[in-house]
Amino acid sequence: MVKLVEKGPLKLSAKLLETSGFSLKDFEIAIGKLAIEEEWEPLGPTPFPSIASLRDWDHILLKRYKPLYMPFCDLCCLCTFGKCDLSRDKRGACGLNMAGQQSRIVLIACCIGAATHTAHARDLVEKLIERYGRDHPINIGGEYIYVEAPITRLVCGIKPKTLGDLEDVLDYCEKQIAQLLSATHTGQEGDNIDFESKVFHAGMIDHVALEIADIAQISALNFPKADPEAPLIDLGIGNIDISKPVIMCVGHNVIPTTGIIDYILDNNLDGKIEVVGLCCTAWDTSRYSPKIGKIVGPISWQLRFIRTGIPDVIIVDEQCVRTNLIEEARKINAILIATSDKNCQGLPDLTKEDANDVVNKLLNGGIPGALIFDREKVGEVAVKTAMALAPKRFNLKIFPIKEKEWIVSQAKKCKQCRECERACPNNLQIAFAMKFASNGDFSKLSNLYDYCVGCGRCESACPEDLPIITLMNKASEETIREEKFKCRTGRGAIRDTEIRKVGRDIVLGTIPGVIAFVGCANYANGGREVVEMVEEFLKRRYIVVASGCSAMTIGMYKNSEGKTLYEEYPGDFDAGCLVNVGSCISNSHISGAAIKIANIFAKRNLRANYKEIADYILNRIGAVGVAWGAMSQKAASIASGFWRLGVPVIVGPHGSKYRRMLLGRKENKEDWMVYDARTGEKVYVGPVPEHLFYAAETKEEAMVMIAKLCMRANDTPQGRAIKLTHYVNLYRKFYGVLPEDLPMFVRVEADIPITMKDEIVSFLKEKGWEEKVIPDPTLLKEKVVKKIG
Ligand code: SF4
Ligand code: SF4
Ligand code: SF4
Repeated sequence: MVKLVEKGPLKLSAKLLETSGFSLKDFEIAIGKLAIEEEWEPLGPTPFPSIASLRDWDHILLKRYKPLYMPFCDLCCLCTFGKCDLSRDKRGACGLNMAGQQSRIVLIACCIGAATHTAHARDLVEKLIERYGRDHPINIGGEYIYVEAPITRLVCGIKPKTLGDLEDVLDYCEKQIAQLLSATHTGQEGDNIDFESKVFHAGMIDHVALEIADIAQISALNFPKADPEAPLIDLGIGNIDISKPVIMCVGHNVIPTTGIIDYILDNNLDGKIEVVGLCCTAWDTSRYSPKIGKIVGPISWQLRFIRTGIPDVIIVDEQCVRTNLIEEARKINAILIATSDKNCQGLPDLTKEDANDVVNKLLNGGIPGALIFDREKVGEVAVKTAMALAPKRFNLKIFPIKEKEWIVSQAKKCKQCRECERACPNNLQIAFAMKFASNGDFSKLSNLYDYCVGCGRCESACPEDLPIITLMNKASEETIREEKFKCRTGRGAIRDTEIRKVGRDIVLGTIPGVIAFVGCANYANGGREVVEMVEEFLKRRYIVVASGCSAMTIGMYKNSEGKTLYEEYPGDFDAGCLVNVGSCISNSHISGAAIKIANIFAKRNLRANYKEIADYILNRIGAVGVAWGAMSQKAASIASGFWRLGVPVIVGPHGSKYRRMLLGRKENKEDWMVYDARTGEKVYVGPVPEHLFYAAETKEEAMVMIAKLCMRANDTPQGRAIKLTHYVNLYRKFYGVLPEDLPMFVRVEADIPITMKDEIVSFLKEKGWEEKVIPDPTLLKEKVVKKIG
């Protein structure tokens, strides 16, 4: 069946049209926007939702998960009425209070995140259309993927089939972001809950944009297509052959780097030059060319890697690029090439000049770098420059200054003022380490390496201008040379067949949960904590999913046999497996998998049916996101996209910097009532999941919370018993006792884990536990089968 929907413009023209009543010559009719689309599912209630279309669902969520604000300061300085003091219930000149102001700031951050991903998607789609045409088909998994764009189908109600179709979806995203941003203007929205609803909307739009960006590049650039056996690739500085010219690529948009790879292949230079990446460009380079693309490490390795002196040419595209890389490149005599109009770095635009002329200018030192927007030209200039420069720079690698005496002499300049420590986000004991280094003992400096996030704030604060990062690098030279790991490159989407296989076990609870480790790498206590958490849950046979810099961190530690977790655990979407979906934009496959479980396994309609699917996920799919080192505004918008879908997110010790949490109050029985869809009665289900956004101070607290947040109202007794086994087990492991709130999660006796039955039964008796009903849970009145009176 086909039907007409509003889409592209339609024009009819003819030399002559004759009917029985009239004739027309040389006419043309434009019929607005029409196109033909196949009817694939009945259209749900909210196609292309506006900023208030899903407000009722948001209010249901926010009634249960109330915002708890943690302001950085008491002032609002956003307009010239101010600054206004909002402390102690005061209101600003526009009438805004502190809760409104804090939620407004969160919304601004999420708009920045969503705009960044949407602009990234727009750039990718435009450039890929230029190369492959509007009719290039979307194909992200061939026969294994029937539901290719679950988020777009859910939100917009359309099924994109070609690159050209993706442009229409981006038009919608851009319009929504403009609307959301306008709501933050002085004298618009004032209610904090309505601001929070708009935060959710920004997050939802963010996930649509993520999906559009990744399905475009997977389809056109032939990335791994939903492949659980995507190649294992090199990760770590130790894998780089420093005898070859080295091009370092930083950012998130792979298009310029594809120009470099293509130039290398077209000119038979494969094996003669190293192309290494940081942050998400690294993942996408390795997805484009697993053979050539190597990964240095996450975003926080930028300064650390540059200070090794290894890169000859540094290519920056967009997002998460250090804004002063031009100065850093200069320090090591490397060349910087900027490639994005969003990140011009103050460089001259040489896009239109001849490539050889640009190379000459760069090599002769006239300019420190260039701005080049043309992908092919970036490829040619980067490769030629690196090849010419590398022999001259060889003595600068691996570190510009090699002598140990130099470290001692630098450390001796330290005045022990501890300005560096006050500036350090991780409170590292730099002054203490300097004292030892000044006596020739570098062990303390080297110990800091694993905990340093490479932000450079210590150097900025140091009154002696000590190159603290370089000193740490130098002290850790052996560690750096041994950084040789293997990780599985991003596989992209989850197959429909995988969803069919595990959907039942996830919904019934017999697979205890799906845990997604996402976000940036500014860990408070080093990356090892992430690896420990991942390993714990893999051993417990949860499904562990990863993306972006977190996925890199997971590959940066080896077990006693010298294997990383990627070598130890399979890459399927199944119990006890480790799935790397890819870069930040591949996070869409994680939310997409949750949506697909509701659609493929439970056969719920997807098309523009957001509330029903989110209600399904919240009540039935035990999924939790963990952003242990989350940092950017993009991380905030990604998290809010998960919240609106009913997926809780846990952040690490820096999490309070997000300024607010979304916390459930487990003691408020009223908050945990749901409808039983079979009877319409309201039933108490306990605090499941207890929070929507939670900051954990330690990895132990996080692990207990992960196990707890995987519980869902729909768990069968068998599933709940499995989930409780992990919750109780982890709680006891770290705190030594049974969790006080255990009675809230036991509904019937069959929920009690068999191995702890006697102990838990007597604990429950002590606490006056009462049996509860297990409903067919929903928060949506309209989903009740029997009418409520
Ligand atoms: S936006 Fe409102 S609270 Fe903020 S400075 Fe202006 S008047 Fe004051
Ligand atoms: S670069 Fe490292 S040591 Fe320096 S302030 Fe940042 S985290 Fe601390
Ligand atoms: S700021 Fe500089 S001088 Fe002061 S303690 Fe730190 S390294 Fe030493």
